[in-house]
Amino acid sequence: MSVQQLCVLGATGSIGASTLDVVAQHPERYEVFALSGHRRLNELAELCCRFRPVYAAVPDEASARQLRLLLEDAESIPEILIGEGGLEAIAADPRVDTVMAAIVGAAGLKPTLAAVKAGKRVLLANKEALVMSGALFIEAVRASGATLLPIDSEHNAIFQCLADPASPGLTRKGVRRILLTASGGPFRQTPAEQLIGVTPDQACAHPKWSMGRKISVDSATLMNKGLELIEACWLFEATPEQVEVVIHPQSVIHSLVDYVDGSVLAQLGNPDMRTPIAHAMAWPERIDSGVAALDLFDIARLEFERPDEERFPCLRLAREAAQAGGCMPATLNAANEVAVEAFLEGRLGFTEIPQLIESVLASAEPRPAKDLAAIFAADTTARQLAREWLARR
Ligand code: NAD
Ligand code: MG
Repeated sequence: MSVQQLCVLGATGSIGASTLDVVAQHPERYEVFALSGHRRLNELAELCCRFRPVYAAVPDEASARQLRLLLEDAESIPEILIGEGGLEAIAADPRVDTVMAAIVGAAGLKPTLAAVKAGKRVLLANKEALVMSGALFIEAVRASGATLLPIDSEHNAIFQCLADPASPGLTRKGVRRILLTASGGPFRQTPAEQLIGVTPDQACAHPKWSMGRKISVDSATLMNKGLELIEACWLFEATPEQVEVVIHPQSVIHSLVDYVDGSVLAQLGNPDMRTPIAHAMAWPERIDSGVAALDLFDIARLEFERPDEERFPCLRLAREAAQAGGCMPATLNAANEVAVEAFLEGRLGFTEIPQLIESVLASAEPRPAKDLAAIFAADTTARQLAREWLARR
């Protein structure tokens, strides 16, 4: 077996850290060819010293200078690339085998697509990229022969529960529906009237998973599950109606597949992203991830509830955007990104997040997602509409 050359987009994030933790456990299998980081340059410098990549990608010239300074005394200094072009270059480099797409948000779309178009093995954490570009993304996977492996724990679970994940169409596989589990987030039992005063720190204190702040807020509003519903439709050729969201507070079952003969297959594990990461990195083999064995006696109970779309309208908004199709999921995603940022900066209340998104969706023109330009135009318009909404209120 030859050593896999790995590019980690978003190396300084939560998924980046879990990925590099798995890599460090298997130096005979994986080498880090390239790393990208955005703002936390101290952390990126530390990672460069530890993993000695050939390239490091940062946003701009000023960041490159700072990183060079931080690495002055390092034994091995990577070549530093800048901007979106730098990200695309490391994702598509012919020497790279596997790309971990772990940038958060729309910023990850172009670099992730570059990896797809170059026919890489693409480990997809950056769900926003697939939500935005859907059909184009999947078409690019087919055209290039890239291997797309889901990192989102739910989608990784579904992938593991499908007999032949690569063959098209759920119906042909005898699948009745996908059961997408959700922890319910930190406010699962919070009464509606108390949601108004929720703070960013409360929203980011997830009961089961430790994650970046954007996805933590998405988990609290259930927009994360909405984005995941759209993600599941593209990954597994499902309709929105074939995906049912199930609240499962223990986060032990990561999702299930319900077959027409009545069989329901589930994937279980401790809530630790190193499991889906190690699965996707080694697939179709299995490697140690460093995650403790599941102790069912310790867990003792598994519970399930229906989601409450009155308190958490984001789930409904995402389903409506999925049903509308075209550029609507990109519009939903962009409005959500602006809303979450405003919430994290204390400029928007928690319960205003779905209000903003609903208003943007209502004013956006439905347009087909015929190419990347159309998708980015929808993204730009949605951000503009969202900023106008913020300024008006
Ligand atoms: P994070 O905030 O911890 O890390 C984000 C990474 O993206 C960082 O390395 C940051 O430098 C980089 N980044 C941010 N803005 C950028 C920009 N404009 N240009 C280039 N790089 C930029 O986020 P995370 O929790 O690691 O999540 C990353 C992705 O994985 C998200 O799409 C998220 O939805 C998905 N995901 C995360 C988890 C999890 O457990 N953390 C689980 C499932 C899916
Ligand atoms: Mg998930």
